[in-house]
Amino acid sequence: MFVISSKNLLLKAQKEGYAVPAFNIHNLETLQVVVETASEMRAPLIVAGTPGTFAYAGTGNLLALANDMARPYNHPLAVHLDHHEKLSDIKHKVMAGVRSVMSDGSQLPFEENVALVKSVATFCHRYDASVEAELGRLGGQEDDLVVDSKDAFYTHPAQASEFVARTGIDSLAVAIGTAHGLYHAEPELDFARLADIRAAVDVPLVLHGASGLPASDIQKAIALGVCKVNVATELKLAFSAELKRYFHEYPQASDPRHYMLPAKLAMKEVVRKVIHHCGCESKL
Ligand SMILES: [Zn+2]
Repeated sequence: MFVISSKNLLLKAQKEGYAVPAFNIHNLETLQVVVETASEMRAPLIVAGTPGTFAYAGTGNLLALANDMARPYNHPLAVHLDHHEKLSDIKHKVMAGVRSVMSDGSQLPFEENVALVKSVATFCHRYDASVEAELGRLGGQEDDLVVDSKDAFYTHPAQASEFVARTGIDSLAVAIGTAHGLYHAEPELDFARLADIRAAVDVPLVLHGASGLPASDIQKAIALGVCKVNVATELKLAFSAELKRYFHEYPQASDPRHYMLPAKLAMKEVVRKVIHHCGCESKL
């Protein structure tokens, strides 16, 4: 089985000072792009899907594809549940073979978030599946969940320490000023807060909403303890922009084996760039 937990991928990244990219995929083609590119660069890889993605593509299909694609490259990878909110849904997917989970209770009051994530971690650890959870809340849109920027709030370092200790999670997603989706203005990340969180907790930290962040911000975050960087929007935009351009140029095109290719190449460039920014080339 080439589908593994994220735990050791992130602990190695923490020890050696780089980040593992988590790329959101949606179908055969986008999965091919991230697996092939990460394999060529010998970069550790987390392939992520929201509940909407797993519903769209099929959990078993994605697991089978990821496993089969990884085999010829001898490239173990994590298939990750991004922003999953329901324990029953997580259980179902872990029993299907997923070994990397984000239990997102960030919309809940603190005590309810602790209770949910603790029950997820207890279940997942019996299967050697790693668990990430989020404290604080990002603005923007992920899947069907829209968070208005005025409802977003930042992670509190002391509360983060309590949260990690009480839930037993393997990694912590922090809210320090990034958002899901595209940035309309240059985001200002709270690096002082990130440093305080790093000092308060020892598990690897996760940065969501990295699409469109300047490389310098990503690298500074990694230097301050971020070990996983999530990218979704930027991949979708590159893929769909090139697909649209192709159809505009060749309106008669009807063979997916042809019209998907330029879109895949455009997405590949983004994957390459992110791996570069994460400093994880040759780190598998
Ligand atoms: Zn996210």
